[in-house]
Amino acid sequence: MPDIAALRKRALHAIDERRDSLFELSRAIHANPETAYEERQAAARLADFLEKNGFKVQRGYRGIETSYRGDASGKSGGPRVAILAEYDALAELGHGCGHNLIAMIGTAAAVAVRQVIADVEGSVAAIGTPAEEGGGGKVALLRASAFDDVDAAMMIHPTTGRSLAGRHSLASNRVLVEYFGKAAHAASQPDQGINALDGLIQLFNSVNAMRQQLRPDARIHGIITNGGSAANVIPDHTAGRFSVRALDRRYQQDVLRRFIACAEGAATATGTTVKVTVHENAGYENMVFSTPMAERWTRHMKDLGMQVFEARDDERVGSTDMGNVMQVLPAIHPYIAIASEPVPGHSIAFRDLAVTPGALDNALVAAKALALTALDVLTDASVLQRARAEFEERRKTGVVKGRAS
Ligand SMILES: [Zn+2]
Ligand SMILES: [Zn+2]
Repeated sequence: MPDIAALRKRALHAIDERRDSLFELSRAIHANPETAYEERQAAARLADFLEKNGFKVQRGYRGIETSYRGDASGKSGGPRVAILAEYDALAELGHGCGHNLIAMIGTAAAVAVRQVIADVEGSVAAIGTPAEEGGGGKVALLRASAFDDVDAAMMIHPTTGRSLAGRHSLASNRVLVEYFGKAAHAASQPDQGINALDGLIQLFNSVNAMRQQLRPDARIHGIITNGGSAANVIPDHTAGRFSVRALDRRYQQDVLRRFIACAEGAATATGTTVKVTVHENAGYENMVFSTPMAERWTRHMKDLGMQVFEARDDERVGSTDMGNVMQVLPAIHPYIAIASEPVPGHSIAFRDLAVTPGALDNALVAAKALALTALDVLTDASVLQRARAEFEERRKTGVVKGRAS
């Protein structure tokens, strides 16, 4: 049995030693924002960093160009832990979600575990998961069996206000709705046209009428991406992009079905035809985090001098493809507060905050707690046992899907 206190000390020391280069890594990703599936420089930087620190690295993991995977194995047998990194930015906004910090945390924690992996049974994989902001990198990776050899997965997301061991997220689909009509002169022959914009506007009105009959956690929101070409032409093609979300997949699918019925009804009402495209990779499941692993992270955070809070029932949440991972294996996605005052996510203020010395410092403490959590999974069999028992119970009651058999 390895001396766990000595292992922990060596693992944390590995992070402290690399503090400057880890901060530099995060700053470089922040300074060069790349959006979904375009994160070539970020993925290369992270893969290089892992390689330099002893990982066996596959670039373009599972055929996804901006994914990667670094592996480090200890003694044979034992759990296989994956520590995930996200590194995509938001169009126009840059790193307004702070994924430059997620990348640093995941990499730091993986490097810390690798430092001691030879002394434990099991293995650690650092997996780069691109395109979280709508492109569904983890959905694509899951579909490519990228997590089939993983027993437990973990990552950390930045937030502000209060650090959380975990919280729910919304199941979500992105939907493209297009209406087709017939162009005509809007003044001289409007009666000979079919107005595709009327279809789209009718859809917005129907959705607004439906809201009163939806559960409070349901969200339907959209924009018009093509509203026609000229005011004096009856539009023959219009398009809108929507997100349809709710706290659990089952209800979300019901809301999606009703949304599609609204889209079809709007076509009937306006004489247009409609095409609805539900994007597969952007079908995000809701998160259900592993309690035994989240408890360990919380305990380590407290030992490192940080406060961690319980999520409130009315927590405001978005969606993430980490939900899809949590539906098939025990995993955690805690939140590290990078400022004590609340700052809205996906904002310029959050982007500017995500590279401040205080944010980097807090993120590094979160990485240490994550490394210690991964070490717990590797060295204390009861953690994974309890995580699996909880997962199995949730699978039986339909809270999670489980792996397809
Ligand atoms: Zn985001
Ligand atoms: Zn994010």
